[in-house]
Amino acid sequence: MIKIFKGNVIFTKTMQSFEEHKNSYIVTKNGVVEGIFEKCPEEYADAEIIDFGDSLIIPGFNDLHVHAPQWLNMGIGYSEELLPWLEKYTFPLESSFEDEDFARKYYRLFVDDMVKCGTTRACIFATRHLRATEILMELLEESGIGAFVGKVNMDRNSSDALQEDTQTSIDETLALVKQDKEKREKAALNGELPLVNYIITPRFVPSTTAELMTALGKIAAEYDVPIQSHLDENLDEVAWVKELHPECRSFTAVYDDFGLILPGKTIMAHCIHNTDEELKTLKEKDVFIAHCPQSNFNLSSGVMPLRKYLDMGMHVGIGSDVSGGHTLNMKEHIVEAIHASKCYHSVHRESAPLSTSEAFYLATKGSGSFFGKVGSFEEGYDFDALIIDDTNLLHEKQLDTLQERLEKFIFTGTVDNITNRYVKAKKVTCK
Ligand SMILES: [Zn+2]
Repeated sequence: MIKIFKGNVIFTKTMQSFEEHKNSYIVTKNGVVEGIFEKCPEEYADAEIIDFGDSLIIPGFNDLHVHAPQWLNMGIGYSEELLPWLEKYTFPLESSFEDEDFARKYYRLFVDDMVKCGTTRACIFATRHLRATEILMELLEESGIGAFVGKVNMDRNSSDALQEDTQTSIDETLALVKQDKEKREKAALNGELPLVNYIITPRFVPSTTAELMTALGKIAAEYDVPIQSHLDENLDEVAWVKELHPECRSFTAVYDDFGLILPGKTIMAHCIHNTDEELKTLKEKDVFIAHCPQSNFNLSSGVMPLRKYLDMGMHVGIGSDVSGGHTLNMKEHIVEAIHASKCYHSVHRESAPLSTSEAFYLATKGSGSFFGKVGSFEEGYDFDALIIDDTNLLHEKQLDTLQERLEKFIFTGTVDNITNRYVKAKKVTCK
């Protein structure tokens, strides 16, 4: 089916600059971009045109790292660092998701908030509870946005209420992986791909025994399922991993040795305190790095050397890391990424701060590329888009370029400026 969207189109094909198409037509076929045209091509004369007038059409935001249950804790406990914060705030909250009614109520609010903020795809940690994870996946499917979701695995050093038995953790993960495989095979019969998929989610090394990590690595390889976890976030955490696994050369090596780094299919969140040897592995294995600047500030974790990773040609995207981060609004995380790079630059003058186009790229195409051709309006990309009415931001001032209008929205706009959301050219309704 052909659908045509008209408006002021702006996106980042590369990090270096914005692509601007004023008053243009984006032609989509079955949810995928065919091309952008100044005049509507004759061959599409009969197709439906959705005209957004002077509004901006931008790619949807993609959140590469977020914890759905922690949505309730946004803004709380930031006087602590990671490990005591997990003990005091996160584990007690996550244990409440044993209760299905509780899970449904708050996961619904989480999903609604995510849609409202303009996130069109996300990589999500649930809790260790199987049923609550299924509920979260169902709610995401109903919403129309895309996601990878994982039941968290944690069989050591957790609270009594959250700690799993190793075999149960393996069995439940395998059940969810098989369920997901069946869903994908069923959709494939109709030539479709499900928007919500499973991702194997060991919480982090201190929470998972060698036996569990080995089993999860085997399941991931056998069923070709992606993996997400945390890496080198906090110095106390790094020291703890060294104590737990003196046999491994580094934190990264623990994941690698247990088969938890699948080339091109693994996300590691934070990556602040990595050694050069670890970076070499991450680069060789094509690992996606989820940069979570707001969380890194809130929990005093440090400032990630982003420029170094970009210069190395690493895959980097941006994560809200709620509730290490205190908002799902990816626009705010774009700003935080710029601020973090400027902080880093103030101490390391050779490391250039992030430009707006670079930061925007990271939250759209950078994170989006984990999902396939997502996060851009180049030919062949899924049409995931936000329509931005910025009339109230412009006042009397005439801004010269679409870039200036987009910058104004990112720094001074609100979610109320987002008037429409699309995933694969299908409208997503905001509650
Ligand atoms: Zn996290």
